[in-house]
Amino acid sequence: MISCRICETYIAPFMSFGKMPIANGFLTPDTYDSEYFFELAVGYCSNCQMVQLIEQPDRTKMFHDQYAYYSSISKRMREHFQKMVADIFARYPVSDNPFIVEIGSNDGILLQNIAQKNMHHLGVEPSKNVAQVAQDKGIQTINEFFDRHVAQNIASKHGQADIIFAANVMCHIPDIHSVVSGIKYLLKPKGIFVFEDPYLPDIIDKISYDQIYDEHVFYFSLTSLSHIFNLYDLEIIHVIPQDVHGGSMRYVVAQKNAYRLSEALVHQKQIEDQKKLNHASTFEQLRQNINGSKLQLMALLNDLQKQTKRVIGYGATSKSTTVINYCGINSHHIEFISDTTPIKQGKFTPGGHIPVRPYQAFSNNYPDYALLFAWNHKAEIMANEDAFSNSGGKWIVYVPSIQIF
Ligand SMILES: [Zn+2]
Repeated sequence: MISCRICETYIAPFMSFGKMPIANGFLTPDTYDSEYFFELAVGYCSNCQMVQLIEQPDRTKMFHDQYAYYSSISKRMREHFQKMVADIFARYPVSDNPFIVEIGSNDGILLQNIAQKNMHHLGVEPSKNVAQVAQDKGIQTINEFFDRHVAQNIASKHGQADIIFAANVMCHIPDIHSVVSGIKYLLKPKGIFVFEDPYLPDIIDKISYDQIYDEHVFYFSLTSLSHIFNLYDLEIIHVIPQDVHGGSMRYVVAQKNAYRLSEALVHQKQIEDQKKLNHASTFEQLRQNINGSKLQLMALLNDLQKQTKRVIGYGATSKSTTVINYCGINSHHIEFISDTTPIKQGKFTPGGHIPVRPYQAFSNNYPDYALLFAWNHKAEIMANEDAFSNSGGKWIVYVPSIQIF
């Protein structure tokens, strides 16, 4: 039992995935002995409905100087953020000389679209090496964890913000009260806070349990988010469902009563109400579905192993860590995982210790099967890899169900 990070109600886990390493903790054999594990379990709050991790590792173990995720590597993500900025500016025109802030600005993938317009901007990024990449590109960035104190410093130096962005960041921050309080302080009376995160109903519908890992402390719904924003006199005014990351939601938040609520928001609220996110049975069903997905995937991988088929993994994603360790996938099931991220290549996956090799290890010697850990980019990847399919290679996908293409 822990107390809810939002409202302090006691919550119990509805599901444990067992001992789990840090999702981004790619390592070399000399550090296997000191590899860090914690219990990955999730629960939901019967009062505010926030689904959250029971235990979370120390943030310094997750976001450190070796943090391996650089957003700009993915072309699809670069295009996504370019379009996100264009859409927001079209719907919410800003005043002359606006000030734009981004929380968790990574390597500047989103803010570069603002910097190109010569707009006053500031990124707040806790990972030093990632922040440095943004600074080198000429994107104004401070190396901090965003909280109320940092928000006050920004406001006193730069003034209040017209738009605050946060993409795949809010769900990472355990002390969300300090962040929301900081947003409240930093936002102009007609300012907007735009953020995107995985959406709980998508995880339930798609059984995409690989969204559950150490960095994602919260699994948001409209209901649970409305509860915390309400505590700070903020409200969600608009939502736009997104298909990046396999199902996420873009939320637009403003000072209470500053804007009319959109029809899309009202519609999404109706959809969500039918999902029964306040019922224990919903989460018991999810637990059973996740277990069923694991049994099916392992039956397939064990069968392919018996047939001595060559299977490799495609994309050493953070998400894959939950699947590999929860299902018990090892280097007997998959020979290696190919990944284009140089910092991961030559290392081994957290917990499962499966080798990570460059993309050419896949493309120079096609396997019989490729287990698609980057399933959220399925369409883009399959289109680019028709030579693999033409060679007789098959894809294994496990979300929303175990399928072979
Ligand atoms: Zn709560």
